[in-house]
Amino acid sequence: MIPERIRRLKPYKTETSRAKVRLSSNELPYPVPEHLRKRIAEEIARVPFERYPDPTASELKEVLGEFFGVREENIVLGNGSDELIYYLSAVVGDVGGIYTPVPTFPMYEISADVMGRKKVTVPLTADFDIDLESSLGLADMYSLAYFAFPNNPTGNLFSRDRIRKIRERGVFVVLDEAYYHYSGETFLEDALRREDTAVLRTLSKIGMAGLRVGVLIAKEEVAREINKVRLPFNITYPSQVIAKVMLTEGREFIEESVEKVVTERERVFRELATIEGVEPFPSRANFILFRTPYPADAVHSRMLSYGVLVRDVSYMPRLERCLRVSVGRPEENDAFLEALYRSVRDLGQRFAG
Ligand code: PMP
Repeated sequence: MIPERIRRLKPYKTETSRAKVRLSSNELPYPVPEHLRKRIAEEIARVPFERYPDPTASELKEVLGEFFGVREENIVLGNGSDELIYYLSAVVGDVGGIYTPVPTFPMYEISADVMGRKKVTVPLTADFDIDLESSLGLADMYSLAYFAFPNNPTGNLFSRDRIRKIRERGVFVVLDEAYYHYSGETFLEDALRREDTAVLRTLSKIGMAGLRVGVLIAKEEVAREINKVRLPFNITYPSQVIAKVMLTEGREFIEESVEKVVTERERVFRELATIEGVEPFPSRANFILFRTPYPADAVHSRMLSYGVLVRDVSYMPRLERCLRVSVGRPEENDAFLEALYRSVRDLGQRFAG
């Protein structure tokens, strides 16, 4: 009774290996300061969780609207942006397939499989931009396109012009701006003005991954339709309460942390480039993709033996021998650089001998 397309799906896996330094999931590396934790505890103590939460999460939406500079009517909330990707794939352009450049964030393809829609995947160019010619050549086959902006795991921003050219073919485009706070680049104006563009944001990369709050921003007419398929209580009471405190009283903490991560990103990039044989790729996000001369699984497990967890992304097209590291606190980044230096040295000896 379970259709073949579902049987073929693999369960979504993230790495759970124990490691002293975990730099594999692009979270904010700074813990929430004590005074904010206290305020959150006070608010949580008052939550009447024998009751259902506000199904519209209107107070949280108000705070989010202010935070992102949009109106509440432009917002649809998801249990993480992952859930919003499911909604979009269920609702937008119900005929035609779903386009994604590859390599990219895997949820776009997974959502297409779940919804039974055709996938149109086009490999990125050698410099990780959109292959416009191939993408336009296939444009009749898809009605919805996902662009992670900046892209995960490559870290770069696609050219805006190429995204617009694909949109001009009558394709609804979703700009997944999960890493917006680290890039400062956005399609927000388009999303607010046009009926063929939506922007996704998330609280996951700015210190609240555990809350599961994703934010879709679109023109009111579009947001209203997508909101109809949203599960009524998808944002839990505690998440609504904690996110409200964080986005009001915790703004300074968030902004300072993001700034520190951006500074560290540039330092880690420079230092990576000094390790023999290692090639880092420039990043506008809170992680860095890099290539080494050795098989990525060997580098990955060596690094784990030195207590550092990174993500092996070498199974993705174009990313042979590549790994991805999230930018951590300075001391974590030092531990990462040291572990990589040693792993590459160890493997150099092994492969030479
Ligand atoms: N989009 C991109 C591009 C991501 O990299 C991630 C997280 N890895 C997500 C969405 C998922 O975010 P959320 O935690 O809001 O579901």
